[in-house]
Amino acid sequence: QADAALYHAKAAGRSDLAVYGSEMGERMAARRALEARVRAALERKEFEIHYQPLVDGVTHGIVGYEALLRLRSDAGDPIPPAIFIPVAEELGLISEIGAWVLRTATAAFAAIEDGCTLSVNLSAVQFEDGALVPTVRAALHESGLPAQRLELEITESLLLGDSRSVEMQIDALKEMGVGIAMDDFGTGFSSLSYLWKYGFDRIKIDRSFVGALDENPERARDIIETTVLLGQRLGMKITAEGVETAEQSALLTQLGCDVLQGYLYGRPGPIADFHRRDFGT
Ligand code: C2E
Ligand code: MG
Ligand code: MG
Ligand code: MG
Repeated sequence: QADAALYHAKAAGRSDLAVYGSEMGERMAARRALEARVRAALERKEFEIHYQPLVDGVTHGIVGYEALLRLRSDAGDPIPPAIFIPVAEELGLISEIGAWVLRTATAAFAAIEDGCTLSVNLSAVQFEDGALVPTVRAALHESGLPAQRLELEITESLLLGDSRSVEMQIDALKEMGVGIAMDDFGTGFSSLSYLWKYGFDRIKIDRSFVGALDENPERARDIIETTVLLGQRLGMKITAEGVETAEQSALLTQLGCDVLQGYLYGRPGPIADFHRRDFGT
């Protein structure tokens, strides 16, 4: 946390704040600077969305893209989502930011004819105010994007909240035809009952397990294989995140992951780059 706060200070270009004298003061000032940046970016529409390709495990052709939110400091340096999203959540702004992501990304994808899917990350906090389902419905309606082309990604931490309300919202989204994926599988409180209860369409195996294929091949392989079998048995599709090498790719496909995502196939980038990018391998 302290490292993150100091990171904010640097990212916000406020390393001069050390003049406050105490590390605590520096941290609080850095935090306020980051909060101000998040508020300003929302007001002035300075958030951006980058898109990372998702490829078919066998053909390696692009089947979709994941929308990833981007924010820069006043000095122009990228601030990682892992830093600014929790701040947006605490400020009570994540629903508004999330709605902007949904509207912007669905509008962009409705214009792409080839039918590739759009994946959008949701914060658990977006399930708390009752706005999520109407927001998704409106984004689909206004953009004209078919619901079947939208997939929403949720991390396991979501499931700690009021489960009845979450369950009803997920059911409403599924009824619209939207896909639901469990993101970063294996890193949180991976309870089997969650997978069962919320009826996910897809599991995204966290990139830490994919990375572990290099360091601890047998164990990582066993965990991934078991997850794939579990997901398949429950009728889910499987994506592997963080694929960086051809060796990982071949093994993950062999283990049954139908979609792969990672730097091997493309880094997140602006939508304007789509026509210039060659993801073929
Ligand atoms: P995530 O949903 O698990 O997204 C995948 C993350 O892995 C992205 O980080 C992506 O840039 C990174 N990644 C993809 N391929 C590779 C690879 O081959 N190697 C490595 N080392 N990394 C890879 P990013 O963009 O920093 O996003 C971090 C997290 O922030 C996301 O994790 C997601 O949980 C959250 N996030 C991003 N955009 C949004 C958003 O619009 N709303 C919400 N609520 N959360 C978001
Ligand atoms: Mg995700
Ligand atoms: Mg993920
Ligand atoms: Mg992740």
